[in-house]
Amino acid sequence: MYWIQSLPHLLPVINYNYVRLRAKYLFLNTMRASTKSNRRLTLIGEGEIDLQGRSVGYSLKQSQRTRGIRLEIRSETGLTVVVPRKYSRQQVLDMLRQKEGWILKHLSPGKAVQMPLFTHEAGHGDRLIFMGRPIEIVINPGKSASSTAILHGNKLLISTGARNAAMPKILENWYRQQAASVFKQKADNFREIMGLRYNAIFIRGQKTRWGSCSPAGNLTLNWKLLLAPEDVVDYVVIHELAHLKHMNHSKKFWDTVEHYCPNWKKHRRWLTLHQDELRTMAAFV
Ligand SMILES: [Zn+2]
Repeated sequence: MYWIQSLPHLLPVINYNYVRLRAKYLFLNTMRASTKSNRRLTLIGEGEIDLQGRSVGYSLKQSQRTRGIRLEIRSETGLTVVVPRKYSRQQVLDMLRQKEGWILKHLSPGKAVQMPLFTHEAGHGDRLIFMGRPIEIVINPGKSASSTAILHGNKLLISTGARNAAMPKILENWYRQQAASVFKQKADNFREIMGLRYNAIFIRGQKTRWGSCSPAGNLTLNWKLLLAPEDVVDYVVIHELAHLKHMNHSKKFWDTVEHYCPNWKKHRRWLTLHQDELRTMAAFV
């Protein structure tokens, strides 16, 4: 059986920096181009497994050409299990258990959740996350230099005449547009339930904050939150709205949050655990 983990250049790059990341992508692009025909993988599912007390997420991809099951770890996509046409769930679980030492060694800390990167090399077939679910970039070369992006099912259809260099901007613009409508919808919904009024919502891309609420009733929310699961997005919106009642983090404030969001502790922990990943994603924007 061919073991892709024997290739050292596919090991995760833990400390991202521009030069290393570019170099890695250049390599991957070259590799994709030269082995395109036997690397056609179809995403068929997602899973999660507990390995030595750590919850590890993985994507399941199918290859028509492979015989056995193999594992891949890449810094930008995390763990992938590649399965042949015929396989059983038990075989996948057995493989993950058998290789748990290798998986835990090579997955960087906190990499259990897969996070995309908005790089200049992001392109056709790459995956992003939108409110916790994977979406796939589909690029249609357009004639005009301007770009459009529309989400259709789990595909983000991008039409652009511009070269790939514009990708981080196209992606950020799309996430910002979504943020404007998603956050407004959620804030309007929770405002009714909580019996509160807010003034306006502003979308930002702050480095260190997910949201804030001003005494004048203006909510500021970070578009990068859209990479987090939807429950976490709800928690942040409820948290900021609760500040309209209590402009502090007092016991009364948290009681209000808990009333409308009973699992707030879990969501807050998720944000603490994954904040670096959310920020890494945006580091190239
Ligand atoms: Zn707060």
